[in-house]
Amino acid sequence: MAHIKDHLQTIETNYIFSFVSEQKRLFDPKQLIDLGIGDIAYPLNDFISNALQKATQEMAGSSKLYGYGPECGYLFLKEAILSQCSAYHSFTPDEVIITDGIATPITLFPLLMHPSTRFAIQSPSYPAYLEIMKLQGTAPSHIELLPAQYKETLSFPLPTSKVDVIYLCSPHNPTGIALTRQELKQWVEYAKQNDALILYDGAYQAFITRDEVPSSIYEIEGADEVALEFCSFSKSAGFTGLRCGYFICPQKIHVRANGHLTSLLKLVTYARIVTSNGVAYPVQKAAEMALSFEGKKHIGRDIAKYHEATAVLKEGLNQLGFTSYGGIDCPYIWWKIPTDQTSISFFEFLLNQLHIVAVPGSGFGKDSEGYMRLSGLTTIEKATQAIQRLTTTYREVYAH
Ligand code: PLP
Repeated sequence: MAHIKDHLQTIETNYIFSFVSEQKRLFDPKQLIDLGIGDIAYPLNDFISNALQKATQEMAGSSKLYGYGPECGYLFLKEAILSQCSAYHSFTPDEVIITDGIATPITLFPLLMHPSTRFAIQSPSYPAYLEIMKLQGTAPSHIELLPAQYKETLSFPLPTSKVDVIYLCSPHNPTGIALTRQELKQWVEYAKQNDALILYDGAYQAFITRDEVPSSIYEIEGADEVALEFCSFSKSAGFTGLRCGYFICPQKIHVRANGHLTSLLKLVTYARIVTSNGVAYPVQKAAEMALSFEGKKHIGRDIAKYHEATAVLKEGLNQLGFTSYGGIDCPYIWWKIPTDQTSISFFEFLLNQLHIVAVPGSGFGKDSEGYMRLSGLTTIEKATQAIQRLTTTYREVYAH
């Protein structure tokens, strides 16, 4: 009989996004305003879809065979990535690894780390970081949760103990806040002083609006000695269904194995070669197009509409006197529940009474009770309708 690891016998397999999807399924989708999972609201741009079709036709042509591509990605896409961000100028194509989105590579790291590794994670956080540690069997005592501090703005403290690996997400899912250059500098300093590695999740990089928020951690001096950066085409270019992303692993970064220093890039390249046969050629061509001048122009229109929808939600909550965070450099809003309900019970209220789907805060970690995440990856019309539904309900409540 096959044996799995002992800790997996009692593993809780409830993932917040699966829970939300199941609950949603009980309703007619036409009735619902979905501000939940954070999937795209606009179809793939024609410009991108043409690039995809052209590349597929190329594969069907007889002149050149496109079989297995390079496991870590085609050079044309790596070069396009390096040339679109000034903070990437010192990296070589070998330091860029093309992936099927961020979820796969960012969850690889706990599997590679020594069992003594201590992790730090913002709390709340994108659930996959903690879920993969649960799967891997990382002891909770090896995870320092960095609880959100709620003042006028929301911030996360630096670790209070010495940690080895930090999951750092900015713009941040689920709270929608983003780290300024000054704040990010402190994280890089911490990592340098403590010999820690930062796994910097930049899934929402394309949504940054403020100048003080860097679009890459490599804008901070010395970050290339301590940080890997993960970026995705999912939300910025509508690739949630196509699947493409990348990460940068600077060759300067070394890790310790059996008392010796070894190159992390060499190891992750090897891991990628062993576990993947690469991302489809047409998908990489479409991603290249998304980074072109024209592509950015086309995609920028969808991003602008998401920003507008997010602003409608944020402003609507403000008008109703509710407290919320984020929503400026990121399409998520972290909404303080205006009643004393738990986030699951408030989720049920919104779904059953208003037919609005949001994500209960408790799904993002133990420090998140009392909050809901609203996604601005919706249309302006739907955002407006959601606020109308909330306004009607809360006017009634306040009228009593
Ligand atoms: N990281 C964060 C913070 C996310 O919010 C998401 C998706 O929602 C991911 C990673 C995964 O993105 P991808 O679609 O590239 O796998």
